[in-house]
Amino acid sequence: MSNWFSIEKIDKITYALSEYKHSEIPHSYLLIGNEKALLIDSGLGVSNIREEVEKLTDLEVIVLSTHIHWDHVGGHKLFDKYYVHENEKNWMTEKPFFTLECIKQNLVRGANEFPKDFVLDDYEIFKKEPERILKDEDIIDLGDRKIKVIHTPGHSPGHICLYDIKNKYIFTGDLVYRGTLYAFFPTSNPVDFKNSLEKIKDLDVKRVFPGHNSLDLSPSIIPRAYEAFKDIEEKGMLKHGSGLFDYDEFRILL
Ligand SMILES: [Zn+2]
Ligand SMILES: [Zn+2]
Repeated sequence: MSNWFSIEKIDKITYALSEYKHSEIPHSYLLIGNEKALLIDSGLGVSNIREEVEKLTDLEVIVLSTHIHWDHVGGHKLFDKYYVHENEKNWMTEKPFFTLECIKQNLVRGANEFPKDFVLDDYEIFKKEPERILKDEDIIDLGDRKIKVIHTPGHSPGHICLYDIKNKYIFTGDLVYRGTLYAFFPTSNPVDFKNSLEKIKDLDVKRVFPGHNSLDLSPSIIPRAYEAFKDIEEKGMLKHGSGLFDYDEFRILL
């Protein structure tokens, strides 16, 4: 299966690389400037995302993920360097974000088939020190295209959204998408999650690009997710163990 990735051209300088053949449906994004390119998230790591990226640009590619969870960093091993937020700076080295066994189970559970050249037994957790440590409001400079780092903890402590200033695109990782939003991990923080949504809800956003599921989102999903978290807070249930809350377009697991 050579076409593991579905490539969608969002505009002349922006692509989504999606893994629809796995039930996680992760999306990675390639943003091209006039000097450098940026890969936001690198997918499951079962097919070579670097080859796909190199078909789309000759520029140097900066790699980062919205957070260090297995389904967003699988392709990091194919690149020499990556950036990470300071709160997760050791998650690719000392602090395992998921066990190898758990990742393998998740991979198998979500796929009917894998690419021919993928060998599950050879899958390893990639360990490497980051090249650059990011913090809130840092700018990633691609030349004529500046991408702002917005620290949005909650799903994980070093989660970031990326804001493409000129195009008014926001890449929201696992903070907002259509489906179940996860704030139940031991390293999740439901109150931070709400505060992060509040932080981005009034941004001037033309398009929202999520880490999973449907790419067809209205920017209003951000304030709606914020309102949902606020609703849970008003019920006194914005804490771990409160369970699953259903708001049609998304559900929230605490
Ligand atoms: Zn995640
Ligand atoms: Zn994810």
